[in-house]
Amino acid sequence: MKKSQISIEHACPPTIFSDIDGTIWKHEWDVRHSMNGTQRLLPDVFHKFLDWHRQGFRIILTTGRPEFLREDTERQLKELGIFYNQLVMDCGPGPRVLINDTPNDTPKAYAVNLERDSGLEGVDISYTQEKSNGD
Ligand SMILES: [Mg+2]
Repeated sequence: MKKSQISIEHACPPTIFSDIDGTIWKHEWDVRHSMNGTQRLLPDVFHKFLDWHRQGFRIILTTGRPEFLREDTERQLKELGIFYNQLVMDCGPGPRVLINDTPNDTPKAYAVNLERDSGLEGVDISYTQEKSNGD
């Protein structure tokens, strides 16, 4: 299993941008096959999303699914108990790039490339709240 460890120290909790198909549940070439109620979450997905939610992370789901599948997608996410703040659809099938600035040369953009359908075992995003310097 490939591990991916990210340690973040910041005054505010991080925002996670996560894909859905192949990341949260099994990827199907025809998305309609993933809507028959048989979908199950991939390993460690439920636990990680719950843990991130409890730590105050914002969770933005990004998917290439078209906008007209929003209702079905929201229902699936609800049935499987996935916590999230926003669902961004129509992201397209191509690669995704996250751009951010780096105050004081501290990185603010990270990426995790997961093997399709492998789940979130070994993905460790740890967050420590940076202490205020008192001013
Ligand atoms: Mg995907």
